[in-house]
Amino acid sequence: MSENNDVLEFLKKHNAIVYGHFIYTSGKHGKVYINKDALYIKPKVISELCLEMSKIVQNINFDVVCAPTIGGVILSQWIAYHSSNLKNCEILSIFSEEVDGKRVLKRGYDKVIENKKVIVVDDVLTTGSSIKKVIDAVRSCNGIVQGSLSLVNRGNVTADDIGSPFLKSLLNINFESFEPEVCPLCKNNIPINRDLGKGKKMQNL
Ligand SMILES: [Zn+2]
Repeated sequence: MSENNDVLEFLKKHNAIVYGHFIYTSGKHGKVYINKDALYIKPKVISELCLEMSKIVQNINFDVVCAPTIGGVILSQWIAYHSSNLKNCEILSIFSEEVDGKRVLKRGYDKVIENKKVIVVDDVLTTGSSIKKVIDAVRSCNGIVQGSLSLVNRGNVTADDIGSPFLKSLLNINFESFEPEVCPLCKNNIPINRDLGKGKKMQNL
């Protein structure tokens, strides 16, 4: 699964790439949706993806993996697990929670990462704002951010955007998106998917 295309095919095979008419978190419309929840119910699939992600950072020096709740916790666990095996040492896994719009490290995790080298992980990057909050939280507890890793980067997010020494993603992909007023799918009266994306919260549309 070293090539972008291999990862894309793997995600399609496990129903994580869905085609239709969707409303994204940004409010824009588009034809493709990444259904990460279809992956999280399959531990063997997640493990396989996280092994590939772990290989990307195999030669980076780090002690701890940190991710945001909720899905990121699963990634953080599996990446720390595989990295421990690959590097033949103990890599820890922690997560950051959201409090008043900010990411914080609770449960004593702030002490765990003090002066430790950290890889920050997230599942799907669109603007990068979520992973950036985790990076800020790690630094505010004196953790040393070595780099960042995501499953999918679908928004051309760069390391500079999130203030990370590097950003690597298993899959880099771009989906066309449209303002609702000019959406060709709306023009063609293609029904909005109500099960996935923001469409499910907009039942009155
Ligand atoms: Zn539309």
